[in-house]
Amino acid sequence: MREMRESPQLGSLRLLVRFIILSALLSAGAAALCVLTAALAGRLSPGPAVWAAALAVPAAFGAVTALLAGRYFNRRFRRLRDSFQTIIDGDLSVRLPVEGSGAFSAAYADFNRMAEELQNVRARRDEYVNTFTHEFKTPLTAIRGFAELLQEPGFTEAEQKKYLQIIASESTQLAELANDALLLTKLETGNLPVSRTTFWLDEQVSHCLLLLEGSAREKAQTLTADIAPVEFTGSVELLPHVWNNLVGNAIKYTPNGGHIRVSLQRQGDTAVFTVADDGIGMSDEVRSHIFDRYYQADPAHTRRGIGLGLPIVHSIVSLCGGRIQVESTPGAGSTFRVLLPGAEPTEAAGA
Ligand code: ADP
Repeated sequence: MREMRESPQLGSLRLLVRFIILSALLSAGAAALCVLTAALAGRLSPGPAVWAAALAVPAAFGAVTALLAGRYFNRRFRRLRDSFQTIIDGDLSVRLPVEGSGAFSAAYADFNRMAEELQNVRARRDEYVNTFTHEFKTPLTAIRGFAELLQEPGFTEAEQKKYLQIIASESTQLAELANDALLLTKLETGNLPVSRTTFWLDEQVSHCLLLLEGSAREKAQTLTADIAPVEFTGSVELLPHVWNNLVGNAIKYTPNGGHIRVSLQRQGDTAVFTVADDGIGMSDEVRSHIFDRYYQADPAHTRRGIGLGLPIVHSIVSLCGGRIQVESTPGAGSTFRVLLPGAEPTEAAGA
Protein backbone atom coordinates (compact mmCIF):
# COMPACT_ATOMS: atom_id res chain seq x y z
CA MET A 1 0.00 0.00 0.00
CA ARG A 2 1.33 3.45 -0.93
CA GLU A 3 2.15 5.71 1.98
CA MET A 4 0.69 9.23 1.82
CA ARG A 5 3.37 11.83 2.54
CA GLU A 6 2.84 15.52 3.24
CA SER A 7 4.96 18.02 1.31
CA PRO A 8 8.25 19.06 3.03
CA GLN A 9 7.12 22.73 2.99
CA LEU A 10 3.90 21.92 4.85
CA GLY A 11 5.82 19.72 7.29
CA SER A 12 8.30 22.45 8.27
CA LEU A 13 5.54 25.10 8.53
CA ARG A 14 3.64 22.85 10.89
CA LEU A 15 6.81 22.35 12.94
CA LEU A 16 7.43 26.10 13.08
CA VAL A 17 3.87 26.87 14.27
CA ARG A 18 4.17 24.21 16.98
CA PHE A 19 7.50 25.66 18.06
CA ILE A 20 6.06 29.20 18.34
CA ILE A 21 2.97 28.05 20.31
CA LEU A 22 5.11 25.97 22.65
CA SER A 23 7.54 28.85 23.28
CA ALA A 24 4.67 31.30 23.91
CA LEU A 25 3.02 28.88 26.34
CA LEU A 26 6.28 28.22 28.15
CA SER A 27 7.07 31.95 28.48
CA ALA A 28 3.55 32.75 29.69
CA GLY A 29 3.66 29.83 32.12
CA ALA A 30 6.98 30.99 33.52
CA ALA A 31 5.67 34.55 33.98
CA ALA A 32 2.48 33.30 35.63
CA LEU A 33 4.57 31.21 37.98
CA CYS A 34 6.58 34.31 38.93
CA VAL A 35 3.40 36.33 39.61
CA LEU A 36 1.91 33.45 41.61
CA THR A 37 5.08 33.11 43.69
CA ALA A 38 5.11 36.85 44.37
CA ALA A 39 1.40 36.73 45.35
CA LEU A 40 1.94 33.81 47.70
CA ALA A 41 4.86 35.60 49.30
CA GLY A 42 2.45 38.48 50.00
CA ARG A 43 4.36 40.98 47.98
CA LEU A 44 1.69 41.36 45.32
CA SER A 45 -2.06 41.19 45.20
CA PRO A 46 -2.63 40.76 41.49
CA GLY A 47 -5.87 41.87 39.93
CA PRO A 48 -7.16 40.58 36.56
CA ALA A 49 -5.19 43.26 34.70
CA VAL A 50 -1.90 42.19 36.28
CA TRP A 51 -2.64 38.54 35.49
CA ALA A 52 -3.53 39.42 31.92
CA ALA A 53 -0.35 41.47 31.47
CA ALA A 54 1.74 38.77 33.16
CA LEU A 55 0.47 36.22 30.68
CA ALA A 56 0.17 38.29 27.53
CA VAL A 57 3.44 40.25 27.50
CA PRO A 58 5.81 37.25 27.96
CA ALA A 59 3.65 35.17 25.63
CA ALA A 60 4.00 37.81 22.92
CA PHE A 61 7.71 38.15 23.63
CA GLY A 62 8.16 34.38 23.55
CA ALA A 63 6.22 34.12 20.31
CA VAL A 64 8.31 36.82 18.59
CA THR A 65 11.60 35.30 19.80
CA ALA A 66 10.46 31.86 18.71
CA LEU A 67 9.35 33.23 15.36
CA LEU A 68 12.76 34.80 14.72
CA ALA A 69 14.67 31.73 15.93
CA GLY A 70 12.35 29.46 13.98
CA ARG A 71 12.84 31.44 10.76
CA TYR A 72 16.62 31.35 11.26
CA PHE A 73 16.69 27.57 11.72
CA ASN A 74 14.06 26.97 9.11
CA ARG A 75 15.98 28.92 6.45
CA ARG A 76 19.17 27.03 7.08
CA PHE A 77 17.43 23.66 7.33
CA ARG A 78 15.67 24.33 4.06
CA ARG A 79 18.98 25.23 2.41
CA LEU A 80 20.50 21.96 3.63
CA ARG A 81 17.50 19.96 2.49
CA ASP A 82 17.41 21.67 -0.93
CA SER A 83 21.12 20.90 -1.37
CA PHE A 84 20.51 17.23 -0.55
CA GLN A 85 17.74 17.24 -3.14
CA THR A 86 20.17 18.69 -5.71
CA ILE A 87 22.60 15.85 -4.96
CA ILE A 88 19.79 13.30 -5.26
CA ASP A 89 18.91 14.84 -8.66
CA GLY A 90 22.47 14.15 -9.78
CA ASP A 91 24.20 17.55 -9.52
CA LEU A 92 27.21 16.93 -7.26
CA SER A 93 28.72 20.40 -7.70
CA VAL A 94 26.49 22.01 -5.04
CA ARG A 95 28.32 23.45 -1.98
CA LEU A 96 27.08 25.32 1.13
CA PRO A 97 28.66 28.47 2.63
CA VAL A 98 30.37 27.46 5.87
CA GLU A 99 31.39 31.01 6.88
CA GLY A 100 28.61 32.88 8.67
CA SER A 101 26.38 29.83 9.03
CA GLY A 102 26.56 29.88 12.84
CA ALA A 103 25.26 26.73 14.44
CA PHE A 104 25.02 25.12 10.99
CA SER A 105 28.62 25.61 9.92
CA ALA A 106 29.72 22.11 11.06
CA ALA A 107 26.76 20.46 9.31
CA TYR A 108 27.42 22.51 6.14
CA ALA A 109 31.13 21.60 6.21
CA ASP A 110 30.21 17.89 6.53
CA PHE A 111 27.78 18.25 3.64
CA ASN A 112 30.50 19.85 1.48
CA ARG A 113 32.91 17.03 2.32
CA MET A 114 30.32 14.44 1.39
CA ALA A 115 29.58 16.18 -1.94
CA GLU A 116 33.32 16.45 -2.69
CA GLU A 117 33.87 12.74 -2.00
CA LEU A 118 30.86 11.76 -4.15
CA GLN A 119 32.25 13.91 -6.96
CA ASN A 120 35.66 12.20 -6.68
CA VAL A 121 34.06 8.75 -6.76
CA ARG A 122 32.07 9.73 -9.86
CA ALA A 123 35.18 11.11 -11.58
CA ARG A 124 37.12 7.90 -10.84
CA ARG A 125 34.22 5.77 -12.06
CA ASP A 126 33.95 7.75 -15.32
CA GLU A 127 37.70 7.46 -15.85
CA TYR A 128 37.49 3.73 -15.17
CA VAL A 129 34.60 3.23 -17.60
CA ASN A 130 36.59 5.08 -20.28
CA THR A 131 39.72 3.03 -19.66
CA PHE A 132 37.82 -0.22 -19.36
CA THR A 133 35.90 0.43 -22.57
CA HIS A 134 39.11 1.35 -24.39
CA GLU A 135 40.95 -1.72 -23.13
CA PHE A 136 38.09 -4.01 -24.08
CA LYS A 137 37.42 -2.40 -27.42
CA THR A 138 41.00 -2.71 -28.69
CA PRO A 139 41.27 -6.53 -28.53
CA LEU A 140 37.64 -6.95 -29.60
CA THR A 141 38.26 -4.85 -32.71
CA ALA A 142 41.34 -6.92 -33.52
CA ILE A 143 39.46 -10.20 -32.99
CA ARG A 144 36.58 -9.09 -35.21
CA GLY A 145 38.93 -7.76 -37.87
CA PHE A 146 40.97 -10.94 -38.14
CA ALA A 147 37.91 -13.20 -37.91
CA GLU A 148 36.35 -11.32 -40.85
CA LEU A 149 39.63 -11.48 -42.74
CA LEU A 150 39.79 -15.24 -42.29
CA GLN A 151 36.44 -15.58 -44.02
CA GLU A 152 37.98 -14.24 -47.22
CA PRO A 153 39.43 -16.84 -49.58
CA GLY A 154 43.03 -16.97 -50.75
CA PHE A 155 45.10 -16.95 -47.56
CA THR A 156 47.99 -19.37 -47.24
CA GLU A 157 48.05 -21.82 -44.33
CA ALA A 158 50.84 -19.82 -42.65
CA GLU A 159 48.83 -16.58 -42.87
CA GLN A 160 45.74 -18.28 -41.47
CA LYS A 161 47.81 -19.64 -38.59
CA LYS A 162 49.22 -16.18 -37.87
CA TYR A 163 45.77 -14.56 -37.77
CA LEU A 164 44.41 -17.32 -35.55
CA GLN A 165 47.34 -16.79 -33.17
CA ILE A 166 46.48 -13.07 -32.96
CA ILE A 167 42.85 -13.90 -32.23
CA ALA A 168 43.91 -16.34 -29.50
CA SER A 169 46.32 -13.83 -27.94
CA GLU A 170 43.75 -10.99 -27.97
CA SER A 171 41.15 -13.31 -26.41
CA THR A 172 43.63 -14.15 -23.64
CA GLN A 173 44.15 -10.44 -23.06
CA LEU A 174 40.39 -9.93 -22.72
CA ALA A 175 40.07 -12.82 -20.30
CA GLU A 176 42.95 -11.42 -18.20
CA LEU A 177 41.28 -8.01 -17.97
CA ALA A 178 38.02 -9.54 -16.82
CA ASN A 179 39.83 -11.82 -14.35
CA ASP A 180 41.79 -8.91 -12.85
CA ALA A 181 38.65 -6.85 -12.30
CA LEU A 182 36.93 -9.84 -10.72
CA LEU A 183 39.92 -10.75 -8.54
CA LEU A 184 40.27 -7.24 -7.15
CA THR A 185 36.58 -7.05 -6.35
CA LYS A 186 36.79 -10.37 -4.52
CA LEU A 187 39.91 -9.26 -2.63
CA GLU A 188 38.34 -5.97 -1.60
CA THR A 189 35.04 -7.49 -0.53
CA GLY A 190 36.80 -10.20 1.47
CA ASN A 191 35.25 -12.95 -0.67
CA LEU A 192 38.50 -14.83 -1.17
CA PRO A 193 39.73 -17.38 1.34
CA VAL A 194 43.46 -17.02 2.09
CA SER A 195 44.79 -20.55 2.36
CA ARG A 196 47.90 -21.44 4.38
CA THR A 197 49.95 -24.02 2.54
CA THR A 198 53.61 -24.82 3.12
CA PHE A 199 55.51 -24.77 -0.19
CA TRP A 200 58.81 -23.71 -1.74
CA LEU A 201 58.45 -20.05 -2.61
CA ASP A 202 61.61 -20.05 -4.75
CA GLU A 203 60.03 -22.67 -7.03
CA GLN A 204 56.93 -20.58 -7.45
CA VAL A 205 58.91 -17.41 -8.24
CA SER A 206 61.17 -19.29 -10.69
CA HIS A 207 58.08 -20.70 -12.45
CA CYS A 208 56.65 -17.17 -12.87
CA LEU A 209 59.97 -15.92 -14.23
CA LEU A 210 60.02 -18.76 -16.74
CA LEU A 211 56.62 -17.67 -18.04
CA LEU A 212 57.72 -14.02 -18.32
CA GLU A 213 61.12 -14.69 -19.87
CA GLY A 214 59.64 -14.60 -23.38
CA SER A 215 58.25 -11.05 -22.91
CA ALA A 216 61.64 -9.81 -21.70
CA ARG A 217 63.38 -11.50 -24.63
CA GLU A 218 60.97 -9.84 -27.09
CA LYS A 219 62.24 -6.47 -25.77
CA ALA A 220 65.86 -7.62 -25.74
CA GLN A 221 65.93 -7.08 -21.97
CA THR A 222 68.26 -8.86 -19.58
CA LEU A 223 66.33 -10.66 -16.85
CA THR A 224 68.59 -11.91 -14.06
CA ALA A 225 67.51 -13.74 -10.93
CA ASP A 226 69.13 -14.44 -7.56
CA ILE A 227 66.73 -16.85 -5.92
CA ALA A 228 67.54 -18.46 -2.56
CA PRO A 229 65.57 -21.48 -1.35
CA VAL A 230 62.72 -20.29 0.89
CA GLU A 231 60.24 -22.70 2.42
CA PHE A 232 57.14 -20.70 3.09
CA THR A 233 53.69 -21.00 4.62
CA GLY A 234 51.03 -18.81 3.03
CA SER A 235 48.65 -18.45 0.12
CA VAL A 236 50.03 -20.59 -2.68
CA GLU A 237 47.15 -19.46 -4.96
CA LEU A 238 47.32 -15.71 -4.51
CA LEU A 239 51.06 -14.98 -4.41
CA PRO A 240 51.77 -15.74 -8.12
CA HIS A 241 49.66 -12.64 -8.94
CA VAL A 242 52.18 -10.58 -6.94
CA TRP A 243 55.27 -11.89 -8.75
CA ASN A 244 53.60 -11.79 -12.19
CA ASN A 245 52.38 -8.22 -11.78
CA LEU A 246 55.61 -6.82 -10.38
CA VAL A 247 57.94 -8.51 -12.86
CA GLY A 248 55.43 -7.92 -15.69
CA ASN A 249 55.40 -4.19 -14.86
CA ALA A 250 59.20 -4.08 -14.72
CA ILE A 251 59.28 -5.51 -18.26
CA LYS A 252 56.46 -3.23 -19.43
CA TYR A 253 57.93 -0.01 -18.02
CA THR A 254 61.52 -0.68 -19.08
CA PRO A 255 62.55 0.22 -22.63
CA ASN A 256 64.10 -2.27 -25.04
CA GLY A 257 67.54 -3.47 -24.01
CA GLY A 258 66.98 -2.62 -20.31
CA HIS A 259 67.85 -4.69 -17.24
CA ILE A 260 65.60 -6.35 -14.69
CA ARG A 261 66.96 -7.99 -11.57
CA VAL A 262 64.83 -10.26 -9.40
CA SER A 263 65.86 -11.61 -6.03
CA LEU A 264 64.31 -13.73 -3.30
CA GLN A 265 65.93 -14.06 0.13
CA ARG A 266 64.96 -15.17 3.60
CA GLN A 267 65.53 -12.80 6.54
CA GLY A 268 64.49 -14.61 9.71
CA ASP A 269 60.83 -15.51 9.26
CA THR A 270 60.42 -12.97 6.44
CA ALA A 271 60.60 -13.72 2.74
CA VAL A 272 62.04 -10.73 0.86
CA PHE A 273 61.23 -10.48 -2.84
CA THR A 274 62.82 -7.65 -4.85
CA VAL A 275 62.42 -6.61 -8.46
CA ALA A 276 64.57 -3.75 -9.74
CA ASP A 277 64.52 -2.28 -13.23
CA ASP A 278 66.34 0.53 -15.00
CA GLY A 279 63.20 1.63 -16.82
CA ILE A 280 61.20 4.88 -17.00
CA GLY A 281 60.89 5.25 -13.20
CA MET A 282 58.27 7.38 -11.45
CA SER A 283 57.95 10.85 -9.97
CA ASP A 284 56.93 11.15 -6.29
CA GLU A 285 53.47 12.23 -7.44
CA VAL A 286 53.02 9.09 -9.57
CA ARG A 287 54.47 6.88 -6.83
CA SER A 288 51.92 8.21 -4.33
CA HIS A 289 49.03 6.97 -6.53
CA ILE A 290 50.20 3.65 -7.96
CA PHE A 291 48.19 1.56 -5.51
CA ASP A 292 44.96 3.44 -6.30
CA ARG A 293 42.41 1.49 -8.31
CA TYR A 294 42.54 2.28 -12.06
CA TYR A 295 45.43 4.70 -11.69
CA GLN A 296 47.76 4.94 -14.66
CA ALA A 297 50.49 7.55 -14.94
CA ASP A 298 50.17 7.62 -18.72
CA PRO A 299 46.72 9.05 -19.53
CA ALA A 300 47.15 8.09 -23.20
CA HIS A 301 47.15 4.39 -22.18
CA THR A 302 49.91 3.61 -24.65
CA ARG A 303 50.76 0.42 -22.76
CA ARG A 304 48.39 -2.39 -21.99
CA GLY A 305 46.72 -2.54 -18.61
CA ILE A 306 43.96 -0.76 -16.76
CA GLY A 307 45.66 0.18 -13.52
CA LEU A 308 44.50 -2.83 -11.53
CA GLY A 309 47.79 -4.73 -11.24
CA LEU A 310 49.31 -2.87 -8.30
CA PRO A 311 46.05 -2.54 -6.33
CA ILE A 312 45.79 -6.34 -6.65
CA VAL A 313 49.40 -6.73 -5.47
CA HIS A 314 48.78 -4.39 -2.53
CA SER A 315 45.57 -6.18 -1.48
CA ILE A 316 47.22 -9.62 -1.60
CA VAL A 317 50.34 -8.52 0.29
CA SER A 318 48.17 -6.87 2.97
CA LEU A 319 45.93 -9.94 3.23
CA CYS A 320 49.06 -12.04 3.76
CA GLY A 321 50.21 -9.71 6.55
CA GLY A 322 53.14 -8.33 4.54
CA ARG A 323 54.18 -4.93 3.23
CA ILE A 324 55.50 -3.47 0.04
CA GLN A 325 58.18 -0.78 -0.43
CA VAL A 326 58.81 1.25 -3.57
CA GLU A 327 61.82 3.32 -4.55
CA SER A 328 61.94 5.09 -7.86
CA THR A 329 63.71 7.81 -9.79
CA PRO A 330 62.24 9.23 -12.99
CA GLY A 331 64.31 8.08 -15.94
CA ALA A 332 66.52 5.83 -13.80
CA GLY A 333 64.25 2.94 -12.76
CA SER A 334 62.18 1.49 -9.94
CA THR A 335 62.63 -1.07 -7.19
CA PHE A 336 59.68 -2.87 -5.61
CA ARG A 337 60.33 -4.89 -2.45
CA VAL A 338 57.78 -7.25 -0.88
CA LEU A 339 58.29 -8.44 2.71
CA LEU A 340 56.12 -11.37 3.70
CA PRO A 341 55.98 -13.15 7.04
CA GLY A 342 55.78 -16.93 6.82
CA ALA A 343 59.28 -18.09 5.83
CA GLU A 344 60.07 -21.37 7.55
CA PRO A 345 63.33 -21.53 9.58
CA THR A 346 65.10 -24.00 7.32
CA GLU A 347 68.20 -23.57 5.21
CA ALA A 348 67.57 -26.66 3.14
CA ALA A 349 67.11 -26.30 -0.58
CA GLY A 350 63.80 -27.02 -2.24
CA ALA A 351 63.09 -30.50 -3.50
P1 ADP B 1 48.95 -0.84 -15.29
O1 ADP B 1 50.32 -1.41 -15.44
O2 ADP B 1 47.88 -1.72 -15.79
O3 ADP B 1 48.84 0.55 -15.80
P2 ADP B 1 49.43 -1.07 -12.44
O4 ADP B 1 48.46 -0.98 -11.32
O5 ADP B 1 50.19 -2.33 -12.58
O6 ADP B 1 48.60 -0.72 -13.74
O7 ADP B 1 50.47 0.12 -12.31
C1 ADP B 1 49.97 1.44 -12.06
C2 ADP B 1 50.92 2.47 -12.61
O8 ADP B 1 52.16 2.44 -11.87
C3 ADP B 1 51.32 2.24 -14.04
O9 ADP B 1 50.37 2.77 -14.94
C4 ADP B 1 52.68 2.94 -14.12
O10 ADP B 1 52.48 4.31 -14.32
C5 ADP B 1 53.24 2.77 -12.71
N1 ADP B 1 54.23 1.68 -12.62
C6 ADP B 1 54.06 0.43 -12.14
N2 ADP B 1 55.19 -0.28 -12.17
C7 ADP B 1 56.13 0.51 -12.70
C8 ADP B 1 57.53 0.36 -12.98
N3 ADP B 1 58.19 -0.78 -12.74
N4 ADP B 1 58.18 1.43 -13.49
C9 ADP B 1 57.54 2.60 -13.73
N5 ADP B 1 56.23 2.81 -13.48
C10 ADP B 1 55.53 1.78 -12.98
